[in-house]
Formats: sequence, structure tokens, C-alpha cells
Amino acid sequence: MSGRSSFAAHTYRVDAVVLRTHKLGEADRIITLLSSQHGQIRAVAKGVRRTSSKFGGRLEPFMVSDLQLVSGRTLDIISQAVTRSSYGQQIAAHYDRYTVATAMAETAEKLTDADTESAGAQYRLLVGALASLSRGEHSSELILDSYLLRSLATAGWAASFEDCARCGRPGPHSAFSAPLGGAVCHDCRPPGSPSPAAATMLLLAALLSGDWAVADASELVNRREAAGLVASFVQWHLERNVRSLRLVERD
Ligand SMILES: [Zn+2]
Repeated sequence: MSGRSSFAAHTYRVDAVVLRTHKLGEADRIITLLSSQHGQIRAVAKGVRRTSSKFGGRLEPFMVSDLQLVSGRTLDIISQAVTRSSYGQQIAAHYDRYTVATAMAETAEKLTDADTESAGAQYRLLVGALASLSRGEHSSELILDSYLLRSLATAGWAASFEDCARCGRPGPHSAFSAPLGGAVCHDCRPPGSPSPAAATMLLLAALLSGDWAVADASELVNRREAAGLVASFVQWHLERNVRSLRLVERD
């Protein structure tokens, strides 16, 4: 927190979603949060693993809460938590939703690690995807692939599935290149680029724009092909593997 006094404890409030938690000492946890106001925050929840904890289940992964924090010397400390949306419970009850939410949270953590500029947009995108996932509105895998394409676009890596991602020549094109950013024309296509089905390119475009009528009507074979291309695009641009993507079972 900028401008805080070094003499008095500084308290601040945020709307935040829990990305991840890990144990600290006997009863505490470090909570990795994505807040709409200050981007990613790592904070300590004291006594949260005790059954008598005042936080209850409010700081579990994918919970959206209104939090009060106190600035600390190294990590801030969570002093209050009021649940806003309990997506965590509906998500944790379904294994497929849980693995998808875990992959989304891991991606959000990587995308907001250094970038605070797009944090508000990333927060809204993730909370929207978690809400949709918890209600089972669409196939969990489609929600994941749409989230991945949109969160990368928000971070500055917008894929193109119509015009050539390199030279801009109007599409549709039949080749795909993750390094070049999506569909590529005949001249720009690097050797060995995959040639996905036309229906797969249309599905990818629908997932990026949030056209759910098209996405929900897609065939399984195109969903599977799209998922592979989205994964290659994410891995290329994040440069580090999103490990939990491998846990998502594709049906
Ligand atoms: Zn081109």
C-alpha cells in the first residue's frame, strides 16, 4: 500500500476472490487473493485452520468476499471477511468444476503476478467465469477455454481466429499458430502448423467473443480440437506451464 504511515497500522478494504491457500505454522494460512482494487495480494489469515475460526469457510478457494486487511511489514493480515458469493461450495461439490476452477485460478495468478493495470478487468472476468461454472450454465470445459482466451486477451495477448494474426489478411484461414497468435494465412503459416477444422475456428472465435449460442451448439470433436489449440496458446504466452490444465478431464 502506498502512502501508508510506518507508525500506525493501515487498514484497507477490498473485494477479492481467493485464488489459492497454503498452510502457515500450526493454525494459519497464507491466502493468495485477486482483488478488484489492488490486484494480487498475499495475506495471512490467522487461526483460520481452527474449528473455532471466525472466518469459517469464507477463505476457501474461489470464495468471493469483502475483506478488511491490515498492512503488515511483509504480508498483510486479513482482519475481517464477509462472503459475497459462495461459488466455492457449488464448485467443490463437482470434481470437473473444481479442476476447471483450479486451472482458471492458476492462470489468473500468473496473469496478475506483475500486472496490476488490468487487475480490475481480470477480477471481473474470473468472478463471472466462476459464477457461470457454479451454476453449470455451460460445459465446464467451454467455460474454461472461453476464460483462458478472454483473460489472455485482457492481459494483452488477444488471439485472432478470423484474420491472419501476423499480416492481417482477411480470413477465414485454415492454419493455426500459437506463437503468431491464432489463425494464419497461407504465406505466414510456419511449417508444421496445425490445420484445424473450420468449425473449430468458429468455436474458438465464439469462445473469445462470448457467443454462447454458437459455443453451446458445437460438436464434441471441435471442442476437443479447440481445447488443444487453446492450451498451446496459453502455454506459449505464459511461458510457464499452467500445471492444473492437465488435471482437467476432457470428455
Ligand atoms: Zn498472413
